[in-house]
Amino acid sequence: MSPAKAAPQTTTIVYRYRDGLYVNLTNKCPTACRFCIKFTWKMKYRGYDLKLRGHEPSLAEVLDAIETAARERPFAEVVFCGYGESTYRLADMLAVCAEVRRRWPKVKRRLNTIGLGDAINGRPISKELASGLDAVSISLNTADEKQWVHLMNPLREFKTGGFQAVKRFIRECAAEIRDTTVTAVEQPGIDLAACRRLAEELGARWRERELLDDYEDR
Ligand code: SF4
Repeated sequence: MSPAKAAPQTTTIVYRYRDGLYVNLTNKCPTACRFCIKFTWKMKYRGYDLKLRGHEPSLAEVLDAIETAARERPFAEVVFCGYGESTYRLADMLAVCAEVRRRWPKVKRRLNTIGLGDAINGRPISKELASGLDAVSISLNTADEKQWVHLMNPLREFKTGGFQAVKRFIRECAAEIRDTTVTAVEQPGIDLAACRRLAEELGARWRERELLDDYEDR
């Protein structure tokens, strides 16, 4: 008898959380956030394996995965949020948004982001985002630049000027997309009141997130 073959490794393109369908577009991050659960949870998330193993899903694969999920059970929103920064794949994300709007017009489209989308793409992208998304949630976590560099632990190219780029991004998104929310994780040493003030000065809504359990939702 030949030995049993190992089950093929599958990649998670979409996964569910509450009433949302989450899209895992990339594992690429501009930051290695010190609080990110991807490190302690080993790229797993509530039964899903979000490690893409070098294969980012194509646009067709993402749309197929959404279609399959929709046949199984409805969802209220599509959220671009995996263990990676979706604005690295801006064009594909917007193409998915256009298809979702066409096929499921009642489904909301949201991006959860670390806020470096302008810096990553080398241009302001808020107008493009506004053409496809209903909501943007930006994980800022601190009002202090030095603390941001420490906490978010960005790649070298985003260390200098990264925090200012995130603030500009928030302001631009807030001007274009009504549901623009700044979030911060409640953790020791963080001045949440200052973070909230900054979010509101930039024109965004504000949401605090609890330690650990909300990390996955950025
Ligand atoms: S929180 Fe997001 S951007 Fe930060 S390391 Fe984790 S997946 Fe990457």
